[in-house]
Amino acid sequence: MAVQFYNTYTNSKEVFIPLENGKVKIYVCGPTVYDYIHIGNARPFIIFDILRRFLKYRGYEVTYILNLTDIDDRIIERSKTEGVDFNVITEKYIKAFFEDANALGVQRADGHPKATDHIRDIIEIIKKLMDEGVAYQVNGNVFYDVSKFHRYGRLSGKKIDDLNAGARVSVDEKKHDPLDFALWKSKKSGEPAWESPWGLGRPGWHIECSAMSMKYLGNNFDIHAGGIDLVFPHHENEIAQSEEATKEKFVNFWLHNGFLKIEGEKMAKSLGNFRTVREALKNYPGTVFRMFFLQKHYRSPIDFTFESLEAAKRATIRLRVFFDNLIRVLKDFHISDTIIDKEKISKVDLQFLDYFEKLKLELLEAMEDDFNTPVALSKLFDMVRETNKVLSKSEMKESEKYVLTLVKKELESINSFFGIVDLNETKLDSEKVHNLLSLLIDVRNELRAKKEWKLADKIRDELKQMEILLEDRGGKTDWRYS
Ligand code: AMP
Ligand code: ZN
Repeated sequence: MAVQFYNTYTNSKEVFIPLENGKVKIYVCGPTVYDYIHIGNARPFIIFDILRRFLKYRGYEVTYILNLTDIDDRIIERSKTEGVDFNVITEKYIKAFFEDANALGVQRADGHPKATDHIRDIIEIIKKLMDEGVAYQVNGNVFYDVSKFHRYGRLSGKKIDDLNAGARVSVDEKKHDPLDFALWKSKKSGEPAWESPWGLGRPGWHIECSAMSMKYLGNNFDIHAGGIDLVFPHHENEIAQSEEATKEKFVNFWLHNGFLKIEGEKMAKSLGNFRTVREALKNYPGTVFRMFFLQKHYRSPIDFTFESLEAAKRATIRLRVFFDNLIRVLKDFHISDTIIDKEKISKVDLQFLDYFEKLKLELLEAMEDDFNTPVALSKLFDMVRETNKVLSKSEMKESEKYVLTLVKKELESINSFFGIVDLNETKLDSEKVHNLLSLLIDVRNELRAKKEWKLADKIRDELKQMEILLEDRGGKTDWRYS
């Protein structure tokens, strides 16, 4: 099946064909760095990180850009209340953003451009818009004349007439029309400012993203993504600016994630109902948030509740224990030094392999069908359940280990695009756990040899409490996770 995405621009699911064969260019609107990110903000960063990894897994060469909005009204306000330069605020929260993203398993983008490093690019676009006659200057401010762009409202499905009817009389008398938006804002006292043909000032938010996306991905690129609140006006305005400046189509696919809600309302700083990622990470590891978002379709709203986080935690642990078991069982087994003839694989194991392969294809199809991660996850857990049937056999033949080695490879690469279990950590843990358990088993066997049953049983019972089962068989003791 071909990859399909729901494109906000056309309001429909469309087959995704990249502009350049085998290459995908993605731009995601990044954080405004005036505070710590909240869990709602984390949704696009996690979801589009997984999308990027998945497209790579499917063999695409992906260029992924996530910007940092480091000049904005909220940043200036914050710097005024704290009485520090705006750079002090942005540097602090850029550092915090990367720390949080890291803890959430979000990989670095190929570029994290900052708006303040692109003032010249921004000015060049505004100049073009002035030349085209779609922008006008009033006292050092430059506005975009929305009435000049005929496709205005196409992305959000809004009509200019309706917008006009709904717009209150402009508070800002400088604008010709209330719908017009600022490309350049003249300097107010105490605010950071840059030189421009219209005097000292700073860019508007929308033009920053037009400039940075086109600089790194070209005038026309494949995917532009962000939260659904950005459709209007942010992305609508980006289209108007970019397409008038270049006379080319700006973006082919617009992808938007739904809101994270809390008690029915959008989680937002302005509503004061937010939980920072930083705070939440004290109670749950970052992988739990990946699982939490994967359990819902990215376009659906999702409720932030303790129960759903706990469910995500349990699912994460299940996967982790599974990988631990798989790694432990295959610890000393290497395909290279044990060549197994496929003919020797039993009929039952071949049936298992066929079924496993079928589930894998269904998982990939779900991912390709507008990134249906809840269905894909359910297929992954089906694969885990089937594999567990082989894994829990008390005597394992070489051919079964061979089969498990094949499925382990597949499961590892699926896990690597979801980014749920840190396999490096698992191996490390598994190594340590393995050595500690060997030691405990030796001690217990010595106790049993001395007929110190009470102490020997204590070891077995307490390990059972920790979901580790000891199995005595033929004078040998093995262990496994229950
Ligand atoms: P901001 O820093 O406010 O520009 O937001 C960064 C990203 O988080 C944008 O893509 C927003 O659309 C997204 N976002 C903000 N709040 C939520 C929420 N409650 N649920 C999902 N996404 C959100
Ligand atoms: Zn943006």
